Amino acid sequence: MENCLFCKIVSGEIPSRKIYEDDEFLVFHDIQPAAPVHAVMIPKKHIASMDEAGGEDFALIGRLHQVAQETSRKLGLAETGYRLINNCGPDGGQTVFHLHYHLLGGAKLGALTGISGSHAE
Ligand code: 5GP
Ligand code: ZN
Repeated sequence: MENCLFCKIVSGEIPSRKIYEDDEFLVFHDIQPAAPVHAVMIPKKHIASMDEAGGEDFALIGRLHQVAQETSRKLGLAETGYRLINNCGPDGGQTVFHLHYHLLGGAKLGALTGISGSHAE
């Protein structure tokens, strides 16, 4: 899709440090890592967000979880553990509107951050 950052990474218009690629998926290092290991995992198909997924996309997303497991092993995270995150929409903190998962590891990660400030319970 035009003007989509991750579609441009898929096409090679924007370079990335690739970790894994096949016909359906691309995994690359995040440009601003939030952990010692921080990979971004995307389907090559443009799906704007988890909320936009439908039909066969869910099987694709299922296969993306298999790629996550394989990538965690490739990056040496399987033994120590890792976190797989999907941010959806503005409240979820999504900034790039091409569905993706973050794969984070390489250190003991902090607790999940949820609502903060006056809304926190
Ligand atoms: P989101 O905030 O949408 O869940 O995640 C988008 C992620 O994409 C962020 O972690 C951000 O650092 C990463 N990112 C943004 N632009 C680029 C880029 O040009 N290259 C790479 N490799 N990662 C990017
Ligand atoms: Zn896209």
